[in-house]
Amino acid sequence: MKGSACRHAACRCRVSPRRAGQAVVFLLLTLTALVFVLLFNVDLHRVIQRKSQTQNAGDAAALAAARWQGASLNLVGELNLMHALALAARNPSAVDAITNMQARLCFTGPMTALFAAQIAAKNNRMYVDDGMTALLREHAATVRARYASSFDGAMFFNEPWPGAWVQYADMLTRVADAGIAAGPDNARFFIDPDYGHPLMDKAFYEAVEGANWCWFHIYSRGLLEEYDSFRYWPPLPDADPGAYADSEIFGLGLRPVTLPVKRLFSASALAERLRDAGFTADAAILNVTNVMDPHETWYVYDPGVWSAWSRIRPDGDDAFPVTGQVRPEYDTAGADAVLRVNAKVGRITPGMETRGQVVWTAAAKPFGYLESDSGRQRADAAAGFVLPAFRNTRLIPVDAASGAEHSSSDTEWVRHVRSHLRPYLELGRCSAACRYCQALEIWENAAFRQEGSEWLRHNSHLCRIPAGGGSRRGGGTRRGH
Ligand SMILES: [Zn+2]
Repeated sequence: MKGSACRHAACRCRVSPRRAGQAVVFLLLTLTALVFVLLFNVDLHRVIQRKSQTQNAGDAAALAAARWQGASLNLVGELNLMHALALAARNPSAVDAITNMQARLCFTGPMTALFAAQIAAKNNRMYVDDGMTALLREHAATVRARYASSFDGAMFFNEPWPGAWVQYADMLTRVADAGIAAGPDNARFFIDPDYGHPLMDKAFYEAVEGANWCWFHIYSRGLLEEYDSFRYWPPLPDADPGAYADSEIFGLGLRPVTLPVKRLFSASALAERLRDAGFTADAAILNVTNVMDPHETWYVYDPGVWSAWSRIRPDGDDAFPVTGQVRPEYDTAGADAVLRVNAKVGRITPGMETRGQVVWTAAAKPFGYLESDSGRQRADAAAGFVLPAFRNTRLIPVDAASGAEHSSSDTEWVRHVRSHLRPYLELGRCSAACRYCQALEIWENAAFRQEGSEWLRHNSHLCRIPAGGGSRRGGGTRRGH
């Protein structure tokens, strides 16, 4: 009956109170859903925007740092040539000043690179990161207290020039005081144990977290079966107090050698290098015993650093092919800069994480070559003698950069390596509220490892070495270009 009454248009609004209530509930639900969708969209937009800002900032910081590395290398090269001219002019005090300046440049150049990276990141809307700033400030304190200390009258860490460690600590403090927005991620701190210990490999923890049994099959075969307790692990190596001519952060990969320059060049070849660099010189002024014969300190590329760029080879250890061909003159590893930027994203959708974190890691490298009659050659082709050769700077894939696995600005990781590993190796306990300690706790569970061996016994044929981007060093937040 109600049905027939409502055939008139006028009575369509006259619904029962119960139905009206349902409609209100429905409307409210729809509205709530709509609000969620809207908020979620705003969040999504914010995350995307922040992500692209983070990428721009990381890339700009890496490029700025690498540009200064290139400029510093060129300066050290120019000073090598001026050293020869000062010898020809029989000016010993100039020779001393030049050698001292080169030693300083190996540190001040990279510090300038670090500072320039901060400016680039901040210009790209990155804020100061308190964790990374604290790490650098703590490191400055370590340099002041430990590097500059001595035993038996000798310095524990040899100083590259007198008073170097105090000056270096001052520089670190000044950069930290301005605030770190882009952390150096491929630093190799002299005080840290050498990399190469299985527990210094982040990929191990990531494999445990993700129960990625294939990682064990490919990179650490037998570990799941052989491991019995924390005593299985080798002891952490000690820091090696050797010669420290190269900066910990953004090192140039150079070292001083003392030898007669005639072992590297003939007088005419040296004169040609001088002319290439814009100096007026002829072989006659160089071909005198006081230039070519005495044992002098020259800066050369460290062959351990400036070797062939093996990381980019698809058939190399790292199996990381860069896209496209690398020209032979550029096929050298050497100085590069890896930078990490963190950004927080505020979310407004209820129930979502109130703050998300966006991390971007970028790497860049100075590129250069020497001109010769037979065409372009690698920058280190002149008997390893440093010459001004660097002309440009490019982004490179993070996995193709040196030391990217050190993650030296990943605050949680650095704290784990410095403070949690030694107690764990002594007592088998790693109870700190740290992601990596939690992974170790999972690992210590025999049932977990048993599960992995079982799975691999039946399924190891499914495991494939990942192509490109190498998962060995690849972390969840690490990205290449
Ligand atoms: Zn830890």
